[in-house]
Amino acid sequence: MVYVKYDNGFYGVYSSSPISKGLIVYGMSPTGTHDKPTRTSIQIDESVHIEDSVGRYINHACNPTVRIDGLSVIAVRDIKTDEEITFNYMENESIMANPFKCSCCGKWIGGKDFEKDYKKRLAILDELTELSQEMGLYDELKTEK
Ligand SMILES: [Zn+2]
Repeated sequence: MVYVKYDNGFYGVYSSSPISKGLIVYGMSPTGTHDKPTRTSIQIDESVHIEDSVGRYINHACNPTVRIDGLSVIAVRDIKTDEEITFNYMENESIMANPFKCSCCGKWIGGKDFEKDYKKRLAILDELTELSQEMGLYDELKTEK
């Protein structure tokens, strides 16, 4: 079984008991489905995005503890009690409603298609951000009266 915990401003899903690799950690029961992603949906098929009361709180990790297979949340390695349940959003989602920069590697997590279409633009965006930081534009703006 799993439980949802609010910690340090973030929700997360954790294991309430040890789970062996390959076993089902949690079975999702959709409270709604969409043909487009929302901020909390999980993509389970080409144009099927489901809402699940627990699934919505599962965080992303590039090196996750589970994978999503249909409605099943499956352990990809042995999971200890109180360990966080995470899956790699890039493996499921085509395009995400809220792309973000991964906290572990700094890469953009926006879905498979997002990466394809926006890679170039994001590279430019990153360059511009760095450049303006180097030039002290951010500090200048802050001190401007
Ligand atoms: Zn990462």
